[in-house]
Amino acid sequence: MDLREMARAVMIVYRDVEEATRRYREASGLSCPRGCGVCCLAPFVEASILELIPLALALHARGEGDAARERAHQAIGEPGCVLYRPEPVTTGHCTEYAYRALVCRLYGFCGRLDKRGRVEPIACPHVVRTPAPPGVGSLPPPPIVQHYRIRLHCICPSLGHLTSINEALRDALDYVALRLGPAWNGREDPGGWPRASARGYRRAA
Ligand code: SF4
Ligand code: SF4
Repeated sequence: MDLREMARAVMIVYRDVEEATRRYREASGLSCPRGCGVCCLAPFVEASILELIPLALALHARGEGDAARERAHQAIGEPGCVLYRPEPVTTGHCTEYAYRALVCRLYGFCGRLDKRGRVEPIACPHVVRTPAPPGVGSLPPPPIVQHYRIRLHCICPSLGHLTSINEALRDALDYVALRLGPAWNGREDPGGWPRASARGYRRAA
């Protein structure tokens, strides 16, 4: 799949997550307290390379790819996300809010399917609940984690392995650099992208 088409497909999934989350938030009254970013500092924030392809493309387009790669590489094995800033920026603590990963969009509140396919609502212990405004109808189903994971998986299974967000960001930046490079020459993703081939390409280039 073409790299930009891949990024667009991921962002469409994110848009749908946002829409489902907004509907559920408005009906349930659940929300993250202003300024909270505890989840971004968790020992292991999980994401896949694919989830960070749109961000990696944007960073390379801004000329910030190499610096971001180095920061992500240095942060592997450290707790928390390298995109977190202690001083809140416009959208809170996340410096790349528009491109944040799937878990960042669902961690506050969502639903997961149990073994029998029943929806089990789950919520971060730090979220707050305010009374839903009058006129809000019945509670819609929460956004279901597995639905969005499957949609992402269908876009590119070989980039869907979950790892730490810092490692995923580094690898997404490598992957995009490799595919934007002249050696790739517009070829399709062969699948099963191994990190070693990006490293080999970088050494050979
Ligand atoms: S990408 Fe942003 S929202 Fe997600 S963990 Fe990192 S700082 Fe937090
Ligand atoms: S998901 Fe939880 S920890 Fe993260 S910002 Fe929202 S309330 Fe805070």
